[in-house]
Amino acid sequence: VVRANDVCRSYQVGDMMVPVLKNVNLVVKKGEFVAIMGPSGSGKSTLMNLIGCLDRPTCGSVSLMGTDVSTISDDELARLRGLEIGFVFQSFNLVPRLTALENVELPTYANSRPGVDTRKRAKELLELVGLEDRINYRPTELSGGQSQRVAVARSLINDPSLILADEPTGNLDSKTGKEIMDLFTELNKKGRTVIMITHDPNLAKVYADRVINLKDGYIEDRIDVTN
Ligand code: ATP
Ligand code: MG
Repeated sequence: VVRANDVCRSYQVGDMMVPVLKNVNLVVKKGEFVAIMGPSGSGKSTLMNLIGCLDRPTCGSVSLMGTDVSTISDDELARLRGLEIGFVFQSFNLVPRLTALENVELPTYANSRPGVDTRKRAKELLELVGLEDRINYRPTELSGGQSQRVAVARSLINDPSLILADEPTGNLDSKTGKEIMDLFTELNKKGRTVIMITHDPNLAKVYADRVINLKDGYIEDRIDVTN
């Protein structure tokens, strides 16, 4: 479902172009659970943003569901992102003036699956991440871990086939983190593809089929975890 072909990304800093990703090749098959690891600054979020089409590569191309995303219209891309991809941002990206419930519903304002009661589903998801008593709180009234769980619930509102999660448990205690991981595992067993960035080697080892290590913008090695 995901293919990155010789993808590079450089950022302009002052009058210099600084390369961050260097010819990364990656194929993730439908139903895989892949963990991306690597030191801070190695380009993990940059790669995830390219896969999620939040950003465009400086060279190379990204294909999703067999389509080179640079060849489809903005509308088609927005639809694909809205319905097929659930994105958990490293910094949550919750909308401050919306409640937890409204933040979870947000992706359905632009795209939703027909026949789904979004309010009911948003409540169920908040319950699933243990926040049924916080649905009317705004982001400033939530802790970091609670905000992260709202972000996870929001990523699942349109029942995406591809879940891209950037450090989804980074702010959670180990018990709550395990609950989120179990949730992803359950979705993965139902055929959803999961790509997750984590700093925790244990999480990668326990939950992922495959671990990809990024170092200085290169894929250093791939470890297949067989369990
Ligand atoms: P972390 O584990 O800390 O989240 P990461 O592996 O996700 O790190 P990235 O966020 O992908 O790292 O950043 C990789 C490099 O790209 C960093 O050195 C960072 O300074 C640089 N970078 C990221 N975004 C920009 C930007 N918008 N402009 C310039 N440089 C950037
Ligand atoms: Mg990052």
